Amino acid sequence: MSRAAVCIGCGQAIGPLPRLNRLPDGKPCPTCQDRLLETLPPVLPAPLAELSFEDWSDEGGDEPPDDYLRGA
Ligand SMILES: [Zn+2]
Repeated sequence: MSRAAVCIGCGQAIGPLPRLNRLPDGKPCPTCQDRLLETLPPVLPAPLAELSFEDWSDEGGDEPPDDYLRGA
């Protein structure tokens, strides 16, 4: 019943985690690349420039900012 997920580009099996398979000629599979880009968070510099500090503090708001001072 279990159907193995296979990339339509390179024909290699797709694991539980996105992986970049390589074609027989050694080049990375473009289909795997597209799938990775859809899965991974955007790492392009453009959205990074639009990130404000409010977005950053919104995620780590529970951590005290002066926690690193205790090591002194
Ligand atoms: Zn592929």
